[in-house]
Formats: sequence, C-alpha cells, structure tokens
Amino acid sequence: MAEKAFNLTREMLDHSFAETVAPDREKLLTCIQCGTCTASCPTAYAMDYTPRQLWRLIQVGLREEVLKSNTYWLCTNCYSCTIRCPRGISLTETMAALKRLAIAQGLEKPSTIQGRVARFYRSFMDSVRRHGRLHESEFLITYFAHTNPLGLAGQGRLGFNLCRKGKISLAPSEVKKRGDIAAIFRKAQELEAGGAP
Ligand code: SF4
Ligand code: SF4
Repeated sequence: MAEKAFNLTREMLDHSFAETVAPDREKLLTCIQCGTCTASCPTAYAMDYTPRQLWRLIQVGLREEVLKSNTYWLCTNCYSCTIRCPRGISLTETMAALKRLAIAQGLEKPSTIQGRVARFYRSFMDSVRRHGRLHESEFLITYFAHTNPLGLAGQGRLGFNLCRKGKISLAPSEVKKRGDIAAIFRKAQELEAGGAP
C-alpha cells in the first residue's frame, strides 16, 4: 500500500473525528506509527489503508477519507492489533465504531465491498435475533438475495448438497430462552442509542 499525499485544506479536517470514533481519543493520539497493528492484521493486505495509516488519518481529522476507505469493513474483530499495540489503544473498538457510524450515515452501497460486509452482519444478526442462534439457510438466502440475487440461483445446488449431508437445515433450530436473546439485542440497541462507544 503506497503512501498517499494530501493537499490539506481547513475544510477537509474534522478535529473532533477522533473523539467520535475512538473510545479513548487521548490514547489514539499517542500512536507512534510503529506498524505493529498492521503487521498483526490478517486482512491488512486487502485494505486500501493499513490500520497504521488509518489511525494517522483519524489523528489528522481526515474524516471523509477514513469513512470512504474499505479498511474498517475488512476488520474481522480478531483483536490482534489491540493486544499487541504498545500504546494500549482500543483499535478493534475503533474499527467497530467506524462501521456503526458508516451504517448510521447510510454510506454502504449494496454493490460495494462495504455494502456486502454490512449486509453480511445484518443478515447474521437478524437470524440470531429471530432464532437465538444462526439459521444458516435463512442467513445465506437473505445475504445473497440482497447482494447477488443471480448468484443465489447458482448457490442452489450447493445448498441442496449441504442439506443432503446434514451440514445445514431448512428448518431453524431455536434456543429455548429466545426471550433472553431478545433482551440482549434490546440492551445493545439502548446502549448504541445512548452513544456507548
Ligand atoms: S500498534 Fe499502536 S502505536 Fe503502533 S502503529 Fe498501531 S496503533 Fe500506533
Ligand atoms: S482487529 Fe481488525 S484491524 Fe485489528 S488486527 Fe484484527 S482484523 Fe486487523
């Protein structure tokens, strides 16, 4: 990933951006650009900005540049960067906050990698919300129906074979206390609405 130069103008900078997305802005500002996070990241190779570069953009306040990148969408929440960062910065949480902000602002377009990742999360969580655990068939159908309807037809044979071998089921397997799961979702929504990091 090549370094990119910017002709910075006052209008491009949002100095409150770090505070918006980082659980601890002061800590994020202590990043020494050592690159340990990037070296630890399993998906950095596919990101348009590496994690190290992304923190720098956030520090500077290049909000639009950060939000239009694919970097945070490709974060798998593995926590390798957070565990290894010598400054103890909450990097994984910052990636998650960026995803939430982009979704809240409707930035993910269905045809883009951002849109597909956002839909993946939505389909997954909707299925867990409904049944208390993932119903794989429903998840795959809703995901492909939204991101690649033509591809859904192509997945039919694969789905049939998986069902035949008992790997997935057409009927959902539901947990006994679905009310408890619904309560967890409600609480998460309350926390997000209240601006929890
Ligand atoms: S590991 Fe921590 S200090 Fe090093 S570049 Fe990444 S965020 Fe900055
Ligand atoms: S938590 Fe995300 S950014 Fe950090 S190493 Fe894992 S995939 Fe990369």
